[in-house]
Amino acid sequence: MKAEKTIICRILEPTKRKKGLLIKELSNANGYIRGQTTDLYSATKQAMNKYIQKDELKEEHTYPLFLRNDTFRVEEAKSTKEFSYWAKIPVSGVWGGVWVPIRPHEPIKEEHEVKDSKVVWKPYGFELHLSISFDVAPQTPKNVLAVDLGERVMVAAVSTADNGNPNLLGKDVRGTRRHYAYLRKKLQGIGESRIKEVEDKESRVVEDRLHEVSKKIVDGADGEDALIVLGDLKGLGNKDTNKGARMNRIANTMPYHKLTKMITYKAKEKGIRVIQLSERLSSKTCHRCGSENTNRPTQGRFDCNTCGLRNYNADLNGAKNILYRSLAYMVGDGAVVNQPKTKASIAKSRFRYGTSPWKPLPNL
Ligand SMILES: [Zn+2]
Repeated sequence: MKAEKTIICRILEPTKRKKGLLIKELSNANGYIRGQTTDLYSATKQAMNKYIQKDELKEEHTYPLFLRNDTFRVEEAKSTKEFSYWAKIPVSGVWGGVWVPIRPHEPIKEEHEVKDSKVVWKPYGFELHLSISFDVAPQTPKNVLAVDLGERVMVAAVSTADNGNPNLLGKDVRGTRRHYAYLRKKLQGIGESRIKEVEDKESRVVEDRLHEVSKKIVDGADGEDALIVLGDLKGLGNKDTNKGARMNRIANTMPYHKLTKMITYKAKEKGIRVIQLSERLSSKTCHRCGSENTNRPTQGRFDCNTCGLRNYNADLNGAKNILYRSLAYMVGDGAVVNQPKTKASIAKSRFRYGTSPWKPLPNL
């Protein structure tokens, strides 16, 4: 199975001449897509045309220099400790391009197949974003890790491997976002640049937490040979219903699309399957008896009026629903993991399987 990922490489301070050539090529690339110049390495023109949506150009934006995979090269540096690799970047008018020292954030391996990549301008210098593809062994899952996107915590995760011990991750994120929302409000009218500073800080803090949480989930699944079942946010944006309003409120305080993307690509790198289930049922349905005759005494708590479950953690209830339902589909449908069909068939397969999912999984 093929997986893809991006390896970020810092381009270390090149010589003045090389730096000048890179800056010129990047600015020509930005001029080229705006129809202001044609002075650009010809294969790079093709790459720019391929990756840039010309009818959606942002005026002030510096677009990366896209490189076709056969026009650049990366080689291991033989005799220096300062950096570990060289990269050859093609530039117009210079035969053979320019060779620059790079430092990747992880080793570039022999078996990595280099795809079309890009040179990105950052305030601290250039980066080469190396897209690579490589072989991973597809997973033979023995467990299921269910992940619900929570309201009070970022995610609640339960697995068939850990006897239902829940993982509640990212408890602090909501607080972080609230804190910064408060700061932004306080700063309004005082200083635009200060607000921007606060926003940048917030997105860095949140981004770091998202990386941590998604890594924890994927590492957990990897260790348990579990496939990941995620709550789905398809219902987002449907503002006419209560569900839409609730989901909007959650999505506004928690960057779930980003988290979903991070989990998905980190899992893909390890050959772990990720499937999505409808989020809607999971919030209202009682995980113990399947009833929807339920209510919330407080936002984070859950009561079932049918089986008498009281004061249960709402995020955990959601995660357990996702777990139970995903197991029901897998068992109900034999070896194939399918998307949900109708409520009735869910209930039926659920019933067939029983309500205790902590049994060895059949072959998936
Ligand atoms: Zn119940």
